[in-house]
Amino acid sequence: MKIKCESIIQNDSLQEECAVFGIWNHPNASEITYLGLYALQHRGQEASGIVSSDGNTFYIHKNVGLVADVYKPHILATLKGYHAVGHNRYSTTGASNINNVQPLFSVGKDGPICIAHNGNLVNAKELRDELAKMGALFQTTTDTEVVLHLLARTIGNWKERFKQVAEKIIGAYTLILMTKNELIGIRDPNGIRPLVLGKLNDSFVLASESCAFDLIGAEYIRAIDAGEIIIINAKGLHSEYFANVRKTTPCIFELIYFSRPDSQMFNESIDRTRREMGKQLALESPANADFVISVPDSSNAAALGYAQTLGIPYEHGLIRNHYVGRTFINPTTELRKAGVKIKFNPVATLVKEKRIIVVEDSIVRGTTLKQLTKLLRSAGAREIHVRVASSPIYFPCPYGMDFPTKEELIANHYSIEGIRKEIGADSLAYLSYEGMVSACPDYNGGYCTACFNGVYPLNYESYSGKFSLE
Ligand code: SF4
Repeated sequence: MKIKCESIIQNDSLQEECAVFGIWNHPNASEITYLGLYALQHRGQEASGIVSSDGNTFYIHKNVGLVADVYKPHILATLKGYHAVGHNRYSTTGASNINNVQPLFSVGKDGPICIAHNGNLVNAKELRDELAKMGALFQTTTDTEVVLHLLARTIGNWKERFKQVAEKIIGAYTLILMTKNELIGIRDPNGIRPLVLGKLNDSFVLASESCAFDLIGAEYIRAIDAGEIIIINAKGLHSEYFANVRKTTPCIFELIYFSRPDSQMFNESIDRTRREMGKQLALESPANADFVISVPDSSNAAALGYAQTLGIPYEHGLIRNHYVGRTFINPTTELRKAGVKIKFNPVATLVKEKRIIVVEDSIVRGTTLKQLTKLLRSAGAREIHVRVASSPIYFPCPYGMDFPTKEELIANHYSIEGIRKEIGADSLAYLSYEGMVSACPDYNGGYCTACFNGVYPLNYESYSGKFSLE
């Protein structure tokens, strides 16, 4: 089954990648996993899957659609057992078809195993071609299945086995695996995508973000380290480092846009970090206006930080329709004309005759902002000053974010003044690169900031804009 996900709106924001969730030893493992995936819906809206286990039998349900649509009470009742792994998908590698929906499940020399992945392997095609030459048969077009095949060819304990796999794969990978006897959490040696550990009564839980723990009532314990493998089984929890060389460079975009503001990263809330970005932006590029508005929801915290720093009121000038998603497909010409209005509507009585500062978290193609300034002007706004709480994006992302190509990024075509004209703002300023990094929690190894400065922390020679294993 192919899904077509053409949004009526040319979606200018970066798309989230995937969410992973796992729980070990809980009588309601699949229900808890459902809730965890529900909290992590923002990371992937294309498809969802849960694999549960009672230690002998594995139960699987996967489908395309949002979490609330994929699972119904009678479906969850079939997902028996005390252990479960879940996944929400937004495809960055592999076609949008049901075979690619994770967790992937197979039976090998170790018995049944399932795997859920967030990230992207930059050398997946080469590895897959090599494996295919050796006779490997693939059921999906995902890079995740490449990991499964490589793992099947290793020997030793899990740490040793994953060490052998890690010597071959290059890229971002946060993985949760489940066998009959254990739940395993892995974060790549650069820790590009997040993975956190929590505890729900006597059960350990793993999730992409801590906001999932809040919904299920679990206690946050800590983030899994870059290059760390966590093995949870009947004996408890065991942690080791599978990577000899670890250079932690988490994705800075998780802080700017991707992660939920109520999640925490590096012992700091994302909300606080985004406010700090807004504060820094205000210090660098103040503007005079009647009030500040955000482009909801991802810019709310930065806009608040900006407004509070300058002592300017913060207003809700744009209302977002939360029910517009990737399921809004095949629009008619009439609907297409509605454009960004389908998603955002200005509060005309508020913006009329006013000088407004619009805070946005980032600019990708510039198409949304261009339409938003038009909307605000037609609602009577007198001046529109755009402030961006990150620096200009010049480079694509090979590590699991659905970025457009280099050619589509507006910063590669225009100067800041050119972008201002293009989006129709009265003034435009971005947060400086230094200001952006300084607003983030101090992190020893630094962050991956490759889409801003082109310094890729991992080899990506085989990367050519978009991955395809078709
Ligand atoms: S290139 Fe950008 S989006 Fe991709 S991992 Fe690095 S910082 Fe994140």
